[in-house]
Amino acid sequence: MGAVNAMHDAIALANWINVLPSISTKDINMIFSEYKAERYPLAKKAFGTSRMLSKLIEKTMVGAIARFASRNMPVWLHRIAIAKMAANRPQVSFLPLVEDTGSVKPIPQPSLIKSRKLAGNVSSTTTTTATTATSTAKAD
Ligand SMILES: Cc1cc2nc3c(=O)[nH]c(=O)nc-3n(C[C@H](O)[C@H](O)[C@H](O)COP(=O)(O)OP(=O)(O)OC[C@H]3O[C@@H](n4cnc5c(N)ncnc54)[C@H](O)[C@@H]3O)c2cc1C
Repeated sequence: MGAVNAMHDAIALANWINVLPSISTKDINMIFSEYKAERYPLAKKAFGTSRMLSKLIEKTMVGAIARFASRNMPVWLHRIAIAKMAANRPQVSFLPLVEDTGSVKPIPQPSLIKSRKLAGNVSSTTTTTATTATSTAKAD
């Protein structure tokens, strides 16, 4: 979970660095604020999930209850939990977008949408990439 989040963080930050207008403190603060707004809530959620999952290996009464609940969870509830995890699928804005064929709709990725819009103003190459958007970006 930590490694996957590190990669997602890197994607979001790279998307913003790619369209950094200047190296002024104002612009650097702007991209880091955007990055934090996108990634912090998701990192916090992942932290909570990781903490909850750690209960499964606890050799305590709480651990035993957590293991029992996990083993006997109804399939529909399990699907909801998995769908939430699978919905976070960030993409790199300055590379050809990966066609999204997943059955779970990805959550909106502000760094993808906003940086592609910004790149459209400064680079014709990126604009071309942007117009060949995949279902992910079209959906957003
Ligand atoms: C013991 C342990 C076990 C783990 N097991 C797992 C696991 O099984 N599965 C999993 O998914 N995750 C696991 N994780 C978590 C995972 O390793 C981290 O979440 C992930 O590596 C974070 O990646 P990152 O790139 O954000 O940060 P890091 O990997 O910490 O990379 C940051 C880098 O920046 C460098 N750096 C820091 N400050 C500066 C500076 N001022 N100037 C220059 N360089 C700097 C550091 O030296 C470091 O190389 C584990 C972590 C630990 C500690």
